[in-house]
Amino acid sequence: MSRPVPNPGILDIAPYTPGKSPVPEPGRKVFKLSANETPFGPSPKAIAAYKGAADHLEDYPEGTSRVLREAIGRAYGLDPDRIICGAGSDEILNLLAHTYLAPGDEAISTTHGFLVYPIATMANGARNVIAAETNFTADVDAILKVVTPRTKLVWLANPNNPTGTYIPFDEVKRLRAELPSHVLLVLDAAYADYVSRNDYELGIELVATTDNTVVTHTFSKIHGLAALRVGWMFGPAHIVDACNRIRGPFNVTTPAMLAAVAAIEDTAHVQMSRAHTEQWRNWLTEEIGKLGLKVTPSVANFVLIHFPADKGKTAAEADAYLTRRGLVLRALNNYKLPHALRMTIGTEEANRLVVEGLRDFLAGK
Ligand SMILES: *Cc1c(COP(=O)(O)O)cnc(C)c1O
Repeated sequence: MSRPVPNPGILDIAPYTPGKSPVPEPGRKVFKLSANETPFGPSPKAIAAYKGAADHLEDYPEGTSRVLREAIGRAYGLDPDRIICGAGSDEILNLLAHTYLAPGDEAISTTHGFLVYPIATMANGARNVIAAETNFTADVDAILKVVTPRTKLVWLANPNNPTGTYIPFDEVKRLRAELPSHVLLVLDAAYADYVSRNDYELGIELVATTDNTVVTHTFSKIHGLAALRVGWMFGPAHIVDACNRIRGPFNVTTPAMLAAVAAIEDTAHVQMSRAHTEQWRNWLTEEIGKLGLKVTPSVANFVLIHFPADKGKTAAEADAYLTRRGLVLRALNNYKLPHALRMTIGTEEANRLVVEGLRDFLAGK
């Protein structure tokens, strides 16, 4: 008997494995540091807006996310007509892939790039081409080297997850200038709010001045609304128009939209979270370094910790040890980083417990 057969490429995709949701060991307080969620939750104003929407659940959402596009426009100085909102930036990334990739095409991402990219690429029958990184950082020359006549799209998370590294805006501009003009450059700025470097920019200027670059962003990280699924893209009018044609007509829910508006307007909450993240990112990098473990310099809300391959000291063993103490980090086997763990920066209590846990682990306690 025959049965329905998925399109070519679909069964080559390794399913996405999300950060573990921990099962608490009796008596242990559990800290989930595996999914880059904020330890502060969303702005109280976003929670109030979300609850306020509960009285009208019978109504369809406004289909273009107008109030949210206007709020984003005010926050970033952008034309709301060139913004498209989605159910998480995941939906936006998939819309872009669906709009611009077809069987026979190639899309480029980097060795330790975000795993949603190959999934979105292969879901549309296109080939996922990997560009080498240098020191866990995207390398513009390596990306340019793998461009072929079939290349249609380049995915670049800046900063990248799970490495936490970034490339300066000069390098992003050089990449854009040297890529063929028909190649879409997708700049994923999910962690942009955490970066405090003078040579970094989201890429808004490139979107405004070219016909082939988009920036995507999310409410899941610093705004703490991951459960509601809200992301957005700023792009050239022709790309926004094309994506809008295949977007689900009510893709962002009303409670999500209203919570996101309140979140983006609460700049004090964002600043508090940014300052906390920077302070503890520096502290963790230094303290974990003192234990003899390498930490890749991060500009995001997580750090990448490297472990030796020696028995008793490995990343897998550290992961199991910390999990028993209620400290849940992210193993990265599916990111081709079996000797590293990614730790989301947490509360002061969680951060101190991880350093203490790692010290005990390395001492063989
Ligand atoms: C977390 C993350 C996102 C955000 O995804 P959402 O679907 O908006 O929750 C996007 N890109 C990268 C690289 C991320 O790590």
